[in-house]
Order: sequence, then structure tokens, then C-alpha cells
Amino acid sequence: MLAVEEALRLVEQNARPLAPRRVALGDAAELVLAEAVTSTVNSPPYDKTLMDGYAVVSSDRAEVREVLEEIGAGSVPRRPVTPGTATRLMTGAPLPEGADAVVAFEQTEPIDERTVRFRQTDPAPGQHILAIGAALRIGQRVFEPGIVLRPIEIGILAEIGHAEVQVQPRPRVAVLPTGNELVAANENPAAGQIRNSNGPMLTAAIARAGAAAIELPVARDDRQELRRLVGAGLHADVLLICGGVSAGKFDLVPDALAELGVEEVFHKIALRPGKPLWFGVKNFDDRQVLVFGLPGNPVSSFVCFELFARPAIAALAGRGFGVAPLVAARLSHDFDYKGGRTSCLPARMSAAEISSYGPGESDRSGSNGDLPLVEILPWHGSADLVALARANALVRLGTEPERLSAGARIDAIRV
Ligand code: AMP
Ligand code: MG
Repeated sequence: MLAVEEALRLVEQNARPLAPRRVALGDAAELVLAEAVTSTVNSPPYDKTLMDGYAVVSSDRAEVREVLEEIGAGSVPRRPVTPGTATRLMTGAPLPEGADAVVAFEQTEPIDERTVRFRQTDPAPGQHILAIGAALRIGQRVFEPGIVLRPIEIGILAEIGHAEVQVQPRPRVAVLPTGNELVAANENPAAGQIRNSNGPMLTAAIARAGAAAIELPVARDDRQELRRLVGAGLHADVLLICGGVSAGKFDLVPDALAELGVEEVFHKIALRPGKPLWFGVKNFDDRQVLVFGLPGNPVSSFVCFELFARPAIAALAGRGFGVAPLVAARLSHDFDYKGGRTSCLPARMSAAEISSYGPGESDRSGSNGDLPLVEILPWHGSADLVALARANALVRLGTEPERLSAGARIDAIRV
């Protein structure tokens, strides 16, 4: 059976970044920039005051001065400031001609509407002023392609007038649950039926991976219906089908995919849980779709998503094939591992919470060089999603059987 590492390599080979596209700035958050951005403006665009105060000539030592006018942000001063005069400015207002410093209101006392007394008469030139172009000059390179657009970058793009931006588009990921037994969360299962938990779970996982989820209706175990809904799912960049990929009589997914021209890359891997995983690619003239046939059992579906689909989605989004990083941990108990297939076992890692810390606290993680402790949780197999809810990690074990003692070093993946 195909090793997990080899399967990952095959997915990575096929997961290429989507073609860049221009999107409205409001849709660009957390996407990868696909162009170099150069500023067409100075920031700030004029000398501006950083304080509410009076614009003055810095060398002017007069205590009492005439107030020429009052300028709020958005207005423009009309009268030049000269020794013996001052202009009242609100934060953000442009500096009047002749002025080269701002004295804060707190350093002054009004005498009447037109006159003010200065307590500070020796401001340094430039005091409380942000000079034109101090932050950014026209023609200056602001961003290189490849960066992720955080809220900060979005703000700067708005400031320099990029209402649209060239990005790696957000991957669209369709979810297609399959099975005659499935009913929706708001329905009451009849005898032999269960609710569709994978659909909503995967939709949430897709959102967490930064992609856009498209939820398709549940496909019955019927060739025609399956073909129709798989066809709909092939409009997306990635199609996640769940269920119907094992060896049962009603596992019709691999056939349906073959009939629709989706080329199988692999089927079945040496992974527990997750052995039935199917992966293939549908090539169109101008695009390709990655198709994952996830095992139907919820824990298997989740593990296969985390291990394979999430890195693929990251690659499509231009972030690189981001395999889940392994965290070194110590087992809190003895564990008799039977080996056979690579295993990803639900586990609870003790230090996961304390690795972040609040104000006034010190970082306690690894304070004495210790690795986090991890407990492999009891679970009832791959249908037991409830056991997974207690987990904050998956312990990853290899194919060899091992007698692990408490304190043994093992690898875990945070989930
Ligand atoms: P299958 O691979 O289709 O044989 O499904 C394996 C097991 O997972 C069966 O017990 C299914 O009932 C269950 N299953 C399949 N799809 C879902 C789903 N969307 N939500 C919850 N359980 C599912
Ligand atoms: Mg099924």
C-alpha cells in the first residue's frame, strides 16, 4: 500500500498555484499578492500636524500671537504664518505656508478668539509634524509579490489608491457528501439513518484553511445522481467527496470519477485512520481540479483533510504546500503501538494552552527545556468524532510496532 509520504509527494506535485486574478480590495484579505506594488502617492501627501495645536514659525519667541484661522482635517489653510501669528490646527490638518512647527494646545492659553498666549516659545523645527512623503514617496516599491495581505497591507493598499489588486485567488472548494443513510442536521434520522456531519465539518475546515466552501447536496448512492453532482463539483478548484470510496457494494465514487474523466493518482494509502483515501486530477483546457475522495467516517475524513487537502489548498492559494508541522512531545503514559500503517491518533497535548501567554505572564512553555506532555485519547475508532472533540493534536506514529513508555519522545500535529 502507498506510504503516506509518497502520497503527500503525489498531491504536492499536482497542487499548483491558481492563475492570478484582479480582485476588489475588499475581497483580498489573507490572499497572496501576485504583483509588485509601487506607490503613486506621497504618504502623507502634505506636511501634516500630528497634534491638535498651533502652527508656528519655530524661531518666533513671541508669547502672545494673533490667531489667523482655524483649520480642521480636510480643510486647507489660506493664510501664511509669520512671526507673531499662529494658525489653529486639528490633528491631520495640512500645515500652512511659513509654519515649520506645531505647539500643542496644552502648551498654550487662549486670551480671546483672535489671540493666544504660548507657554512653549522654543519648539524644535518640525515638532509634531509628519513631513510630506515621510512614510512613503511616489515611485517607492511598497510590496513584493508573494506576501500575504494582512489587514495592515490592505490598509496601505487603500491609502495608495489600489482599489483592486492582483492576487492568487481564494481556492473554491466543493464538498459532496455521499450516502443513502445521510439526512441533514435539521432532519430526524429514520431507522438506519444518520445525520451528515462531514459536510458541515469540512465546510468549516475549508473556511479555516482560508478557502471558499461550496456545499453540494448529499448524493444518494446512485450512479446517475453521483455523476451529476460530481460534475457540478468539478466547477470548483478542489472537490472533496466524502464516503463511497471503500470497497463496499455501494462505493460508487471511483467509477463515477473515472466516467467523468478524473484521472486517478492514487487510491488507498497506508494511513490509520484514512486508508480508503482516493486522489485524482481532472484536467480541463484552461484549469485543473484536484479531487479527493475522503473516507466517510468522520475522523478519517478530518485526518485526511488535515494531512492532504489543507496543504493542497495552501499550494493553490500560492502559500506553498504547507504540510502540518510536527511538534515534538513526550508521551504521558505507556502505549503499546501495533504499527502496520502510519497512524494519526487523537491526543491531548498539555502545553498547547500555555504556549501563549497574557500580559504580565511569562512564557511558561518549555521553561525548563521540557517538551509538552501528550496523552493518546481513548476512542472508538474512526466513526467516533466525539473523542476527537477532546483532542487538540494528532499523535503521528510510523509503520513499525513499538512498545512506548511514559516519557517517550513522539511527534504530534496540532489540530
Ligand atoms: P462509506 O465510506 O460511504 O462506506 O462510509 C463509511 C462510514 O462513514 C459509514 O458508516 C457512513 O455512514 C459514514 N459516513 C459517510 N458519510 C458521512 C457523512 N457525510 N457524515 C457522517 N457520517 C458519514
Ligand atoms: Mg457510503
